[in-house]
Amino acid sequence: MEGLYQVKVIKELLGRHGFSFSKKLGQNFLIDPSVCPKIAEMGNAKSGFGIIEIGAGVGVLTHELAARADKVCAIEVDERLLPVLAETLAEHKNVKVLRGDVLKVDLASLIRDEFDGLNAAVCANLPYYITSPVIMRLLEERLPVSSVTVMVQKEAAVRLCAAPGERSCGAASFAVRYFSEPKRLFDVSRGSFYPSPNVDSSVVRFDIRSETPDFVDDEKFFFTVVRAAFQQRRKTLCNSVSAALGIDKQLVTQAAQKAGTDPSVRPEAMTLEGMAAFAEELKKIR
Ligand code: SAM
Repeated sequence: MEGLYQVKVIKELLGRHGFSFSKKLGQNFLIDPSVCPKIAEMGNAKSGFGIIEIGAGVGVLTHELAARADKVCAIEVDERLLPVLAETLAEHKNVKVLRGDVLKVDLASLIRDEFDGLNAAVCANLPYYITSPVIMRLLEERLPVSSVTVMVQKEAAVRLCAAPGERSCGAASFAVRYFSEPKRLFDVSRGSFYPSPNVDSSVVRFDIRSETPDFVDDEKFFFTVVRAAFQQRRKTLCNSVSAALGIDKQLVTQAAQKAGTDPSVRPEAMTLEGMAAFAEELKKIR
């Protein structure tokens, strides 16, 4: 559908369908025509790919994805948008819009059933209130996807893509690096959306690793330690882990020393390998 980036056209369309914006659902729609083609191109929307989109809105990104990929499955939680999308995406025969909450939809089955013989990737302008749970779900579930390309709040993008050793590195940065190679692609100003949010955004891409690092033996315990390490940000690694897991500080210090880690180190200065070795030693004394 033409003109979907114009506020006047969006207002007329949504007014006709009796739709009003929900802040709670993170409904800020893209009105900058340069952004969606870039997300689609950098997000693997191309021949041979099936794309899962999260939160279709009025379908501006869906349109760009459908024009490039073999198939698009767009998940949208707000049923009021379904008749809108039926109108705006009428020209695309390779789009399926599914009403559902992305945190509840069985994505593995969706990929298996809808993308037979295709590679899969995820592209989205994410509703920001569920950025972390969505990204963690997409990564931890080990879905058969090549990449996850998402627009998130700029501060979240910095944190998610931070390398170990960087100030903004946190538990989520460790998880992202464990499962993928992250890249911050480009920034998008708040004026590119209608209604305009009060934060700027960035588009990030996580290229999913075909194999996760082999130096982590017990993944579940590794992430328990990672979360514990960052639970109290201003504390040292050992103090934070000791407090969060209820393990005697002296034992935690010994585990750090055995792993070759300075017990006074801050968690953000740890490497993935260092954290894995520390977790292994902690497991022995737990
Ligand atoms: N893709 C459109 C765009 O770029 O203009 C809309 C993006 S808007 C930031 C986020 C969209 O996600 C909204 O349409 C909202 O209704 C939808 N949404 C919110 N929570 C959702 C959930 N749990 N599952 C699926 N979609 C959701």
